[in-house]
Amino acid sequence: MIQEICSKTVLTGHNGAFPTLWDMNPYRGCTIGCKYCFAQYSHVYLGLPDFFKDIVVKTNVAEQLHRELKKKSWAKEQIKLGGISDIYQHAEKKYALLPLVFDVLKKAKNPVFIQTKSILIYRDMEIIKELAKVTTVDISASISTFDEKIRKIIEPGAASTLARMEMLRDFKAFCRKTVVAFMPIIPLISDDDLNLDTAFRLTKEFDLETIIAYPLHVRNTTKKSFLDLIQTKFPEVYPDFVKLYRTPNLDESYSKNLFRKIELLRRKYHLYDAYEPIQKAKDIEQLRLF
Ligand code: SF4
Repeated sequence: MIQEICSKTVLTGHNGAFPTLWDMNPYRGCTIGCKYCFAQYSHVYLGLPDFFKDIVVKTNVAEQLHRELKKKSWAKEQIKLGGISDIYQHAEKKYALLPLVFDVLKKAKNPVFIQTKSILIYRDMEIIKELAKVTTVDISASISTFDEKIRKIIEPGAASTLARMEMLRDFKAFCRKTVVAFMPIIPLISDDDLNLDTAFRLTKEFDLETIIAYPLHVRNTTKKSFLDLIQTKFPEVYPDFVKLYRTPNLDESYSKNLFRKIELLRRKYHLYDAYEPIQKAKDIEQLRLF
């Protein structure tokens, strides 16, 4: 079900949340359908039952953004597009809200952080390129597994993992930072040595700037539905998987071991970079004067 609304505000502030202080979500709910999605809880506040199917479209997102960026109090901080929904999910094909949003951002020269698992973003490549000429554009794609059979189960509406990496490589030409968010790494499902190595190897081969890597953390209703998925689709690992998530946090010794492997891969591929958000466009403009 699609529900169109006119939103009274579109920018959402955070207290030091990664990676930016501000998010904007043209859509609520997400048809990319990642089974581990932490944002599913957010639909409860909207009174909508199905995060993956009941999609809210903020049809006035560009106009409202324009209004909010014009406020005297706005300090041109970097805005993350998407946070609790993917901006290039299926509805964007029909509504085409993003070109309008990019146009507003370009006129305001406002820095932006784009995050997507969809290659629909290629449709807007030229306008994003134009935006990147006047302000900072960072881009990220999160990935989990290079095994397409598994990917289709856990992220059914996303582009293939390789296609996401290729997208980052193609956008790198004009974006400030390209961030591979290798997360979640799913214990016993996508934590094998080949999968881990492939993520770091391709980050290096594609000359991408940054890779951050974290294991899966699942809580509340997502935990229950994700455990059900593991039981149904990956019954062979289910008993061990349940042991790893016995407490609200992932098993500590598993985590330590995984982070050791990640550290070894960082050394192997010389990938130590960490993401540093740009918070104020005027800082960038000042830097450009030198
Ligand atoms: S793309 Fe992001 S918001 Fe959408 S379902 Fe996947 S994790 Fe959730």
